[in-house]
Amino acid sequence: MANVKRADILPEPALSPAYDPGCRRCPRLVAFLDHVRAANPGYFCRPVPPFGAGDAALVIVGLAPGRHGANASGRPFTGDHAGILLYATLHAYGFASQPGGAARDDGLALIDCRITNAVKCLPPENKPTPSEIRACNTYLAADVAALPPGGAILALGRIAHDATLRALGRKPSAHAFGHGACHPLDRGGALFDSYHCSRYNTNTRRLTATMFRAVFDALSAHLGREGARRAA
Ligand code: URA
Repeated sequence: MANVKRADILPEPALSPAYDPGCRRCPRLVAFLDHVRAANPGYFCRPVPPFGAGDAALVIVGLAPGRHGANASGRPFTGDHAGILLYATLHAYGFASQPGGAARDDGLALIDCRITNAVKCLPPENKPTPSEIRACNTYLAADVAALPPGGAILALGRIAHDATLRALGRKPSAHAFGHGACHPLDRGGALFDSYHCSRYNTNTRRLTATMFRAVFDALSAHLGREGARRAA
């Protein structure tokens, strides 16, 4: 696959648009999606839309769809290993109607929670380039702009953290990423950081369920939902 430079990315539109199912702004990602679609005709293989209500008090920002997970199902973290811990924890804290699901028609509903990704299209090797992250940032800006006053954003990993700050018009260098860190935002909002709940991080125990729950304890307290946690 050819190396794509910033100049290869089509210019950003003037305003932050919401999700565009037909976006083809990143040539490398478009080519990769075409390649994966040819090998897997049943897969979604388009920009994966955010999941959950637009005015949710909790917005979770992941990295990008997984090849045989979100890229196949068309729903963030659905079918991805990373979704196992994420959806189980969301259910335990009252943000999801069931502890998991594998398809868009599985009946799973989010409760006052929305999940999106810093990059909406499947990147080769799970690694979007800086240009692709920037190109997709206009969509992420629309996702986070709808956060109600006092809301919480949870960034899963450093790339999501930096992309979220950029989407909010803030300098990532002014807010260091750290697992468990909380960064105050305008209008009483807060950005919480966690290590990404990827297979690698959970298998190596860089992120444990206990560590992830501690982040949800903090963001639930911020949202005034301390009592919401179910026995896991
Ligand atoms: N699936 C997603 O939708 N996002 C991630 O960050 C990882 C897996």
